[in-house]
Amino acid sequence: MEKEVLTALFKNKLLLLTVAIVVITVVLAILFSSIFFPVLGIGLPAACIVGIILFLSWTPPQVLPKPSKVEIKAEPKELIADGKSKSFITIQLLDKKGSPIAAPKDTEVKLTTTGGKLESAVVKIPKGAEKAETVLISSTEKGKIDLAADARGLDSIDIKLNFKEKPRYCMHCGAPMALRARVCENCGKVPPAGVDTKVCHNCESVIPVVAKYCSECGTGQKT
Ligand SMILES: [Zn+2]
Ligand SMILES: [Zn+2]
Repeated sequence: MEKEVLTALFKNKLLLLTVAIVVITVVLAILFSSIFFPVLGIGLPAACIVGIILFLSWTPPQVLPKPSKVEIKAEPKELIADGKSKSFITIQLLDKKGSPIAAPKDTEVKLTTTGGKLESAVVKIPKGAEKAETVLISSTEKGKIDLAADARGLDSIDIKLNFKEKPRYCMHCGAPMALRARVCENCGKVPPAGVDTKVCHNCESVIPVVAKYCSECGTGQKT
């Protein structure tokens, strides 16, 4: 600690200058004490006063604490595997205790994902900011994916996201149906294929004209 203060003291040029003035004044005064009396009588006290004022008004430079971890947050963590659903990703710097912390310098964070597509794979947390943001777009493949961050030297708190199957509803009874199921488990009817179509008034999906319920959003249809 003392060493740090000393280093900081020597970095303060004004203070160093004051010390130099005092030393030079004393040396001059000793060398020419009688001739240069005004130097000793006025210069030294003046230099001392300036030095004291500078010392009192000087505050040590603030050293920003270093972050030790980088945390990823995703909202939502579960999205539909349709190749267009978005999750908003936040990359946050944390200190040793896990509290959010500002970046002491511009910090680049590389993101890697095992699925989906990132809007930017490298994000920058500007000096003084705590976080950066990007967007992850789902793939059409369902399942869990890992999202990891790499900011040189920082531990990463990685997360998992889930791409879930696109929902489907029975057009006869409105019950949810598995995407690949042929027959509705609830009413036993088979949704027709290749028939006349209409547009769902709720989600604008194209559905069979005989549908009582929209197969995409489950909304009951006017008949
Ligand atoms: Zn049904
Ligand atoms: Zn619909």
